[in-house]
Amino acid sequence: MPKKRVVIAGMGFGGLRAARALAGSDVELIMIDRNNYHLFQPLLYQVATAGLEQEEIAYPLRGLVRRWHNASFLLAEICGVNFADKCVQTDAGPVQYDYLVVAAGSRTNFFGMESVVAHAFDLKRLDQAEDLRNHILLMFERASHEPDAKLRSALLTFVVVGGGPTGVEFSGALRELIVYVLSQDHPDIAVSDTRIILMEATDSLLTAMPDDLRRYAYDKLRSMGVEVMLESRVVGATAASVELYGGTEIASHTLLWSAGVSAAELAGYLRDVESGAGGRIMVQPDLTIHDHPEVFVVGDMACCTKDGVPLPMMAPVAIQQGEYAARAIMAREQGRSLPAFHYLDKGAMATIGKSSAVATAAGFKFRGFIAWVAWLLLHLYYLIGFRNRLIVMMNWTYAYWFQERQVRLITAIKRRAVSVVLDRNEP
Ligand SMILES: Cc1cc2nc3c(=O)[nH]c(=O)nc-3n(C[C@H](O)[C@H](O)[C@H](O)COP(=O)(O)OP(=O)(O)OC[C@H]3O[C@@H](n4cnc5c(N)ncnc54)[C@H](O)[C@@H]3O)c2cc1C
Repeated sequence: MPKKRVVIAGMGFGGLRAARALAGSDVELIMIDRNNYHLFQPLLYQVATAGLEQEEIAYPLRGLVRRWHNASFLLAEICGVNFADKCVQTDAGPVQYDYLVVAAGSRTNFFGMESVVAHAFDLKRLDQAEDLRNHILLMFERASHEPDAKLRSALLTFVVVGGGPTGVEFSGALRELIVYVLSQDHPDIAVSDTRIILMEATDSLLTAMPDDLRRYAYDKLRSMGVEVMLESRVVGATAASVELYGGTEIASHTLLWSAGVSAAELAGYLRDVESGAGGRIMVQPDLTIHDHPEVFVVGDMACCTKDGVPLPMMAPVAIQQGEYAARAIMAREQGRSLPAFHYLDKGAMATIGKSSAVATAAGFKFRGFIAWVAWLLLHLYYLIGFRNRLIVMMNWTYAYWFQERQVRLITAIKRRAVSVVLDRNEP
C-alpha cells in the first residue's frame, strides 16, 4: 500500500513541531514554506536593535529534512487549498495530500490605517528586522550632523505602538542600545536628546500578565527612560510624524507597529471555511475543520477556544497544536482517535532590559533577575540548532559584560533615508 502523504503548509513553530513528530514515521512528509528557513520570531526585536545577527535566529529547513528519510521540502508560495480534491495550490504547482496541516501563522494588523501601513515598521520577517536596524543606525548618523534642532529631535524620536511583549521588549532593548552604545558612538548626541515613546491603547502594558507584573514592567521601563503613554491611540502617520487620536502630533521619523495581529493571508484564500476573530479559522475540538477531518489548522491561524475565549497567538500554543495534529494523524492511521486538544498553559514572559523581566509559570510570578535568567534559558532552549544557541549565548554574554552590540552595520540605505533628505529640502 502506498504511504499516506502528509503536507505541512507553513514551517513556523506549529508546522515544525508537527514535522518533527512525524519525522521517521510511516508517512510521506512534504513541508512547504515561502522561506527556506524556520524563523524564531520572538527574537526578531534583538536583530532590530543590533543585538543579534539574522542568521542566529533562523535555521535552514533543508538542514532538518536531510536527516529525515520520509521528508522533503518545497520552497513555494501557497495560494490556496482545494479541499474537495485534497490539493494544495502553490506557485510551484499543485501538491496532493491525504492529510494537511495548515500552519501559516499570522500577519500584522494595521486596522485598515493606510498611512500607518505606508510609514510604520513591521516586525514579522527577518528583512524587516534588518530594515529597522539599518534605519535606527541611520537616524543617529543623520542626527549627528543635522543643524536644524527640530529635525534633529524628530530623527531621534522613536515611537513604538503596542504595549504587548514585542513593544515592551523592543523599547527596553532600544533604550539600552542608545544608552550603552549609540550615545558612545556619537559623542555629539546625548541620551537626553533621544526619546522612546511606547504607546498603548488600553490602560496597562502586558495585559495578559498579573497586575503587579504589569506595574513592575511599567515602572522599570520608565526608570530606564522610556516614555510610556497609556490610553493613547495612533490614527495616522507620515514619514516624519505620528498622529494620535485627539489631534496630537509627534514629530518622529520612526514608528514601529506592534499593536495587533490577524491570521496570515492564506486564511483569506481558503474557501468554505468558517473564520473567527482576526480572520482565524474556526477549528473543531480536534483542530480539524468542519467536514474535513483530514485537514488540521494549528497555531496563529487557528481559532481554537478555551472556555469560550480564543487561545492567544503565541508560540507555545502553536507548538502544542502542531504536536497534537501529528499525534492525531498517527493515531488515525492506527485506527484510533485522540481526545480533544487541550492547551496546557505553562505561563508567559517578557524581558524588559538587562537583568530584568517578568514571568508567570505554574501559578507563580517572577520578576527581575530570576525572570530574566529564565527568559534567557527558555529562549536558548527553543532556538533551533546547536550553533545558533552557542552564538546567541556568546553574544548575550558579551553584551552583558561589555555593554557592546556587534551588529552595528547599516547594510542598506532605504526609502526612509530619502524621506529625511526630502524633508530638509522642503521650503
Ligand atoms: C516580533 C514577534 C515577537 C514575538 N514574541 C513572542 C514571545 O515572546 N512569546 C511567544 O510565545 N510568542 C511570540 N510571538 C508569537 C509567535 O511567534 C507566534 O505565535 C508563532 O510564531 C505562531 O506559530 P505558527 O506556527 O502559527 O506561525 P509562524 O511561526 O508565523 O509560521 C508560519 C510559517 O508559514 C509560512 N507561510 C505563511 N504564509 C505562507 C504562504 N502563503 N506560503 C508559504 N508559506 C507561508 C511562513 O513563512 C512561516 O514560516 C512573537 C511574534 C512576533 C512577530
